[in-house]
Amino acid sequence: MVEALTTNGTREVNTICGFCGVGCGLTVRVEDGVIQKVTGQKDNPSSKGEACIKGREGWRHLYSKKRLTQPLIRKEGELVPASWDEALDLVAGRFSEIKEEYGPDAFGMFSSSRSTNELNYLAGKFARTVFGNSNIDSCNRA
Ligand code: SF4
Repeated sequence: MVEALTTNGTREVNTICGFCGVGCGLTVRVEDGVIQKVTGQKDNPSSKGEACIKGREGWRHLYSKKRLTQPLIRKEGELVPASWDEALDLVAGRFSEIKEEYGPDAFGMFSSSRSTNELNYLAGKFARTVFGNSNIDSCNRA
């Protein structure tokens, strides 16, 4: 990321869009720690100032009131806030129960083209070592 101060005190941060594998250059305008606008980075050698709607407008979900900011666990039919420890313990416990009852092939992992190579590697490792299978796929193989 490259950062510059504009004349009116806002910051402009150049970065790479992470929404898809194209990797367009974006310029993020930030004021008082809050994103104001995202535009295509004009001097980016591959995207040359272009960016699709996801790159230009996808940041708005950061400030959405609908955004999940903590785990939710269903209790008696209702989703209630929970700590990460409680949520992860629940998931790990259910994984163990399912694996014991149905075997390793009860699981499949779907990764994402938005993930880095390192995250996709970890997803594969997780499937092999925790689930005990190689049932992994992703939308980035097409
Ligand atoms: S701006 Fe659009 S095309 Fe470019 S990387 Fe982001 S999602 Fe992909």
